[in-house]
Formats: sequence, structure tokens, C-alpha cells
Amino acid sequence: MSAAALEAFRARARRVGEQHATEIDALDETAGARRALEVLAAAGLTKVCVPEQWGGAHLDGLASRKDVSCRALCAVRSELARHSAMLDVMLVMQGLGSYAITIGGSEALRGELLPRVARGELVAAFALTEPGAGSDLGLVATRAERVGARWKLTGHKTFISNAGVAGLYTVLARTSGEPGDGGKASLTMFCVPASTPGLVPERFEVTSPHPIGDVRFEGVEVDDAQRLGDVGSGLDTALAVLGRFRVSVAAAANGFARRALEESIAHLKSRVQFGKPLAAQQGLGFDLAEMDMRLRAAELLVDEAAAAVDRGQRAVLEVARAKLFATENASYVCDRAVQHFGGLGVKRGVLVERLWRDVRALRIYEGASEVQKLLMARELTR
Ligand SMILES: Cc1cc2nc3c(=O)[nH]c(=O)nc-3n(C[C@H](O)[C@H](O)[C@H](O)COP(=O)(O)OP(=O)(O)OC[C@H]3O[C@@H](n4cnc5c(N)ncnc54)[C@H](O)[C@@H]3O)c2cc1C
Repeated sequence: MSAAALEAFRARARRVGEQHATEIDALDETAGARRALEVLAAAGLTKVCVPEQWGGAHLDGLASRKDVSCRALCAVRSELARHSAMLDVMLVMQGLGSYAITIGGSEALRGELLPRVARGELVAAFALTEPGAGSDLGLVATRAERVGARWKLTGHKTFISNAGVAGLYTVLARTSGEPGDGGKASLTMFCVPASTPGLVPERFEVTSPHPIGDVRFEGVEVDDAQRLGDVGSGLDTALAVLGRFRVSVAAAANGFARRALEESIAHLKSRVQFGKPLAAQQGLGFDLAEMDMRLRAAELLVDEAAAAVDRGQRAVLEVARAKLFATENASYVCDRAVQHFGGLGVKRGVLVERLWRDVRALRIYEGASEVQKLLMARELTR
């Protein structure tokens, strides 16, 4: 039952990739982002990011009606990434940006916003990182101060995917204490509509197509009803969001790597040097064997971690292991593919050159590789 459901999600993502990736990748970043969301929504794929209860996809038992299925998300992301980084990022941000509402929002907020996110009408963003707070979220300095029945947010977020494109931001802010004082309950999450006065996005570019930028909060006021969870529960909420979505970064990494391996095989079989196809050179064949073996191992780690998350297990070790191995491996595989293409491997417009750039950021965001090692070491010695 669940295998058939996963294959159906995967097939739908493959169709979207095959039909739309070329068109989307030819557009500028903002137009590409909007078109990507449009085709994902039309195919019903954005629904994978929202629980069935609030307008999300029917999951055939992959997860409860009140949750997002990690396995479905991984199946979709690995296929989308095989075709287009923009399709992949626009899909996952609908979940990453809205999941704090799913787990912390009031029933009214969930009912109002999540069906619109599921239909792709409302674009979501997730705002944790600041110039002074990256891996260490205890350093978050954006303040939320109570003003009567409202909250006033002041601060500066950076590296926010969908900055300037999003219609809503889920934001981690400080409601007590000082940055770095070790207070466990000093942060709270809020849902902030992009149209709120004082919210100022400013875009910048990264190595791969990816709408991203700074977001400044200049005395942004929201109702207490926009608070996500109890005051002081923000760090737990943010970590729960990452805990559910992090495995899917590994799945996307595998999608990029799978495409790079396919490109390498096709190129080495067709390119003739020294009187025979390059694939007939034993050293290059060994390379393909190594790429294939590592990629399959990464896929199995993702399957294991995603299934554990869907079963409701703690799964810290499984998730960190999958994220660390798959993202590091994708860089390895894409780099070998560039090597196999020779000069063409670094020529703009050749797919493996783009894949090599596409995978790099995955080793950094949602917990860099070193942070995954810290999590694993802590778990192994607990
Ligand atoms: C493309 C992209 C999209 C992103 N999207 C979002 C988003 O939508 N929302 C959001 O909030 N953030 C987003 N981020 C930010 C991302 O989550 C951070 O970049 C990441 O958490 C790392 O933080 P940092 O960049 O401040 O690096 P730092 O924390 O300064 O770390 C620098 C280096 O030091 C290492 N390091 C840090 N601490 C330790 C330690 N204790 N031991 C060993 N090594 C350590 C890190 O692993 C890293 O290699 C995005 C980033 C990128 C690149």
C-alpha cells in the first residue's frame, strides 16, 4: 500500500520535472520561482507539504492525517532535484515555511493558512538564521516585545529562502533573556504575513537558482493569535521543523547525484578517445562503480531515516547520518561527473556543471555537515 503510494508521488514529480524543468530553468529567478510553484500546485505536489487534515495530500497511511509524511516528501524531492533545483526548493519551502504552523498554530490559524499553502496560493518561508546566529540558534537576537495584546518584532534575518517571494514568514524571535545566555525557553515562533508594515526583504544571489535574501523586521506588529506555540517554545518548534524536513535534504542530494551519475554513464559511453569509448577505460568504469555504490547506500540511509520519522521515532542518529552522508556524497558524485566531462564539465549550460553548483549548499543548510557530526556524536555517547 505505502510502496504504491510512494511510487505514485514519485511518478507525478517525474512528470512535472520532465515537462517543466527546461522552461523554468530558462526564466529569471523570481519568474522561475513563481512558475515552479504554479506547476507544482497544478500537479497537486505542494499538498505533500501539508497534513491531509488541513488540505494536504491523501497519504494512504504513510503518516497520520495530522502530519506530513517524510517518505512522501523524500520521494517527491529526489525526483524534482533530478530535474531542477528550482522545482525542488519551491516544493520544500511550502513545508519548511509552514510546518511551525502545523505543529504550533491555533486551530483557526491552521484552518485559515494551511489549505492556501497546500494549494500553492500562499508562499511560505522559514526565518531562523541571522548575521550573528547560524549553527548556534541560542544567539538569535531578533526581539519580540509584548505591546498590549500584540507583539512587536525588531531584528535582521539572513539567508532566508523565498525572501521577497513569500506571502508569510514563520519567524524565530527572542521573547526573553540575552543572545548566548543559555536560556532554554527564551525564544518563540510567530507567523508574520509578508504584507505587514515594517517587514523589508532584500534579495541576494547564491551559487544555484534559489530565491533567497535578508529580511528586516523594523517594528513589525502581529497579534498574539499569530504566535506559534507557547511563549518560550520557539527553539523546540524550530528544531521539530528541522527534524521532520532534514531527511528530505538528503533525498534531494540523492536526486542531484542520481542525475549526475546518469549523465556520466551516457557521456563515458559515447565519448571516444584513444580509439574506444571512455567507458571502456577501466579506471573510469571503477569510478562509475564507486559512484553507484555510494549513491545506493545514501538512498538506503534516506529510506531508513524517513521511515523512522514517519513511525514517530526520535531518529536523531538516522536523520543526521542520512543528511551527512547523502549531501557529502552528492558533492563527490557531481564532482566526478564534472571530471568525466572534461572541459565540458565546467562549461556553463552543460548539466553537470549546474549539478555541481546545485549540490553545494545542501552541505550547509538545515544543519551543516559538522553540526550533523555533533548531533551524531552526542547521540552515540548519550
Ligand atoms: C542556500 C541556503 C538556503 C538557506 N535557507 C535558509 C532559510 O530558509 N531559513 C533560515 O533560517 N536559514 C537558511 N539558511 C541558513 C543556513 O541554515 C545556515 O547557513 C547554516 O545553519 C549555517 O549557519 P552559518 O552560515 O551562520 O554558519 P556558521 O554557523 O557560522 O558555521 C560556519 C562553519 O563552522 C562550522 N561549525 C559551526 N559550529 C561548529 C562546531 N561547534 N563544531 C564544528 N564546526 C562548527 C559549520 O558547520 C560551518 O561549516 C540557508 C543557507 C543557504 C546557504
